[in-house]
Amino acid sequence: MARKEIVERIERLKRRKNAIIFAHNYARPEVVDIADVVGGSSTLIMAARETSADMIIVGGVDFMAETVAILNPDKKVILPDRSAICPMAQQLLKRDLRKAKRENPDAEILLYMNTYAETKALADCICTSDNAVHISENMDGGSPLLFGPDRGLVYYVSKRTTKRIIPVPEYGFCPVHCQIALEDILTAKEAHPGVKVVGHPECTPAVQDQMDYIGSTSEIVKYCRDSEDTEFLVAAEVGLLHMLKKVAKEKTFHIISNTTVCPMLKIPTLMKIEEALDREKYRITVPKEIAAKARAPIERMLELAPRAI
Ligand code: SF4
Repeated sequence: MARKEIVERIERLKRRKNAIIFAHNYARPEVVDIADVVGGSSTLIMAARETSADMIIVGGVDFMAETVAILNPDKKVILPDRSAICPMAQQLLKRDLRKAKRENPDAEILLYMNTYAETKALADCICTSDNAVHISENMDGGSPLLFGPDRGLVYYVSKRTTKRIIPVPEYGFCPVHCQIALEDILTAKEAHPGVKVVGHPECTPAVQDQMDYIGSTSEIVKYCRDSEDTEFLVAAEVGLLHMLKKVAKEKTFHIISNTTVCPMLKIPTLMKIEEALDREKYRITVPKEIAAKARAPIERMLELAPRAI
């Protein structure tokens, strides 16, 4: 089936079923182009709370669909392919979090959005990469924070907060952002002297230290769009280039490493989205008790940092 035909079918199915499509900034360009909402976790969460659609198709990975389902227990939340899983979210196990809490009973638990419902259910608060510093500063009292799973984000927040951060697990990471090596960034800077480097806090500390601006995917897009600079080196997943070029056509973007691809976020294709709409597969649900416990720390995040990027 030609792409135009698939897109038309998607539009028809959307109207018929009162459905909406979410896509992460790193999704395939053709998926980004047909999505109703495109963004990082913050944007998708805010949209998930506000939509009046009956069905939400998530062009992302499992924990994103799960989070949307936590916030929308009465809607049909569909992940087009169950194999779209986030290896970072898998690195934080319930038992490791419980053990860390036993060892640090005074600590509060702050978890990155990139976690599963059953671990979110143990948290005091959730954060995204664009509000993590603000949230860490505004959680109660001076308790240390058990924070995970991403070590890059832990490094980024630790440098900017007054709170003591204890990483859980000790070395959680995003296998995609961690592919960007210090050598890559140094080589790119040498080839493009004076050009600003923008990047994501899931990158390694050594790579972050080379950046002029660090932010979530949506923050990077906004920063580049609004900046007076016209050329940027980008330390993020290659998919972000599509969004950057969409919002700042006249500017030049050089991706630091072409191999920085999240295979999981490329799994949802147009055909899979069309099939997901048609067959309403795969529906993502979270058991009521876990959803209620996981919703509380998400709501707390929204109280402490209500602004979406
Ligand atoms: S980019 Fe990293 S954190 Fe995001 S979905 Fe892919 S593996 Fe998970």
